[in-house]
Amino acid sequence: MADRDEMLQIDLCEGQVRVMLCETTATVQRCADIHGSTPVCTAALGRLMTGTLMLGIMMKGDDESVTVTLKGDGPMGSLVAVADHGHVKACADDPRVDLAPREDGKLDVGSAVGRHGRMSVIKDLGLKKNYIGQSELVSGEIAMDFANYFTVSEQQPSLVALGVLVSGETVLKAGGLLIQPLPGCPDEVIDQLELRSPMFADISREMTYAPIEQLCRDWFQGMNPKILERTPLDYRCTCSRERMEKALISLGTKDLQSLIDEDQGAELVCHFCHGKYKFSTEELRELMRNAVKKGEAEPE
Ligand SMILES: [Zn+2]
Repeated sequence: MADRDEMLQIDLCEGQVRVMLCETTATVQRCADIHGSTPVCTAALGRLMTGTLMLGIMMKGDDESVTVTLKGDGPMGSLVAVADHGHVKACADDPRVDLAPREDGKLDVGSAVGRHGRMSVIKDLGLKKNYIGQSELVSGEIAMDFANYFTVSEQQPSLVALGVLVSGETVLKAGGLLIQPLPGCPDEVIDQLELRSPMFADISREMTYAPIEQLCRDWFQGMNPKILERTPLDYRCTCSRERMEKALISLGTKDLQSLIDEDQGAELVCHFCHGKYKFSTEELRELMRNAVKKGEAEPE
């Protein structure tokens, strides 16, 4: 049984380096259960969620969130993850793509996602102000794509490790590590971190040997690691009937009318949690009447 998922925010060398280290095993398992994903897709979605959670932890406000979309040329299609300060949800166009493992025995996440395409990061800072960052996909293996995003879009050199260890439908371990040397960090500290990077390259495997707190002490020995903050993590969808109503209204009166006339009602399924929302013809009519009354939709 996995311990509760958690993000540790760590400071090294008296504030010269910022580190995030997290376990996301239960979160990724929940995602795999919802989507019935194949091992390679579970790994891709798990890595994406873990990286997105790191961006989410950097968001401070209650109503702030971050959406990361990977649009690669692989068979999974687009992958989307949305996170706030500790919660995440994710989906993919096709989470059931099955691919043979790579020659080294690892899951071929790069081929599933695709090696060419774009990664976009949208930060919703409340107050309707969105910050959009974009970068090219580097490998589709996701950790390198996040590292490239931080370096190119945020001008923050970063070392990123993301890992998901899967056996069939079971997520054995999942987690991630982000290391960011802050401005003024001496070269010898950066050299030390690069020297140690092979230790955390296979992070999910390392996590099967020791809890993340222990890994933190081992990996950053002599660099005075201090845990500044702990945040519980979980998979959470915020869909609701109200939000689905808004989505229906945004279709416009014409499409709504055709749902009423031809389809005798509608059933909407949430992409992130597979929650089902049924609307009868009468409910759709009512929805349309109210929307027109409030000026949210054009009358026919
Ligand atoms: Zn949902």
